[in-house]
Amino acid sequence: MKQRTCVLIKPDGIEKKVIGQILTRFEDQGFQLLGMKMVPVNQEKLENFYSEHKGKTFYDHFLNFMLSGPIVATVWEGEDIILRSRQIIGATNSQEAEIGSLRNLYGTDNRKNLVHGSDSSISAEREIKIMFKESELCLNNSLDLNEPRQTKVP
Ligand code: ADP
Ligand code: MG
Repeated sequence: MKQRTCVLIKPDGIEKKVIGQILTRFEDQGFQLLGMKMVPVNQEKLENFYSEHKGKTFYDHFLNFMLSGPIVATVWEGEDIILRSRQIIGATNSQEAEIGSLRNLYGTDNRKNLVHGSDSSISAEREIKIMFKESELCLNNSLDLNEPRQTKVP
């Protein structure tokens, strides 16, 4: 089933200079990039984005971490992308994330865990609306973006 997801590269991903490595993992799957921007995070948007976690013990520290630097917000589309992208990202606690997952490779702990990925299509639609205006998404282009990569990667 074709789905969309909202993937955020968190401030630690920017600081570690692994934006490219993260995007490559999604491109490698043949997922289609519908939108992308680097933004200084706005506290109000962030509180809305993570409203389900408000009141949890980790919430205040987590929000401060998310506000510590810019993020890269992206929207991707693909077959079963919710499940597949969460497999690429790995378990919440980077120390317990599956070998080879992004959080295993570049994450630090259960707060500084590099990447956000939507946990359902309903969450994805809500999160995409918070991060992007409709006009910022490239929904109807004439390129066949499902074709495999044409250029050789050294
Ligand atoms: P996920 O991002 O894997 O879907 P959650 O939705 O449960 O995880 O939590 C949202 C984010 O809050 C996590 O990605 C992580 O950055 C942070 N977080 C979750 N649990 C903890 C915790 N126990 N301590 C600190 N930060 C946490
Ligand atoms: Mg979550």
